[in-house]
Amino acid sequence: MRLKSHITGANRRGVYLAVGWLVLCMGLAPARSGRSIATPHGRLQEASSIAFDGERALEHVRRLVALGPRPVGSPAHDRARQYIIEQLRALNLDIVRDDFTAQTPLGPIPMTNIIAPVAGQSDDLIIIGGHYDTKLFTEFTFVGANDGGSSTGALLELARVLTSGEQRPPHEIWIVFFDGEEALVRWDPPRDALYGSWHLAEQWEREGILSRIRAFILLDMIGDRHLTIRRETGYSAPWLITLIWDTAARLGYSEYFTEGTLAVQDDHLPFARKGVPSIDLITDFATGPFAPYWHTAEDTLDKLSPRSLKAVGDVVLQALASL
Ligand SMILES: [Zn+2]
Repeated sequence: MRLKSHITGANRRGVYLAVGWLVLCMGLAPARSGRSIATPHGRLQEASSIAFDGERALEHVRRLVALGPRPVGSPAHDRARQYIIEQLRALNLDIVRDDFTAQTPLGPIPMTNIIAPVAGQSDDLIIIGGHYDTKLFTEFTFVGANDGGSSTGALLELARVLTSGEQRPPHEIWIVFFDGEEALVRWDPPRDALYGSWHLAEQWEREGILSRIRAFILLDMIGDRHLTIRRETGYSAPWLITLIWDTAARLGYSEYFTEGTLAVQDDHLPFARKGVPSIDLITDFATGPFAPYWHTAEDTLDKLSPRSLKAVGDVVLQALASL
């Protein structure tokens, strides 16, 4: 992704409205397995019967990082894709592969978006996505623990949670692993960067899918231990920002969902410009604590924390009830 501009400023929190969907459905079915979690504001019903496990998410990242650098077209990138597909199939998800060949400054490169649909109570769609490629660097070893790894690990753990509940989520959810987010030479989407998301947004527009999407939640670099997510104001929908920040405050995660704003071009851009309400949850890679490690050899596993991954996972799951 690339920073559009960076502005800091205070924003007031709104009133929290989100309620876990299990709570909503308690009148219909006994909450046999619903758990409650402690927050600074009292106990709150979990949005699903199984909680998001930050350690599990981090273990996925560990396995991806162990593959080494995973730029598009590399053998390690193929293995990362295979790992994602195997994990999703183990959850009995019928995955959809979106294979295409991207025209890049380095020539044509095959790429694959991976889509894992989770059935819901309505046909409306929620997209939760993130990229699984890592940026190509030849001058140093770049394993992308946070950049490419963290979102992938979180999405795989979200898939486990969303398929393990006794209650279907309110809306159909498609978990999307985007390929080719990173620029190969110089950031210039869609000529160089955002290959996968651009391709999918165009395809879904032709197929009439975009109009079914109620919200698109993008995760990108959400695992650093001093996670500092600011409101992304370049392309994110204001009502989605309010919903997510109110949810985070209610869950006691304002430490991670902080004040201030930043504007970023990321995989939500092609969807947002086609009218899909979108939000990018991304650490402040420009001025936050992770900034010294971004796109360097230091984006390694030791910079991550399972608590950060869980904070984002919990907030996304809880917010689903209000979308
Ligand atoms: Zn990057």
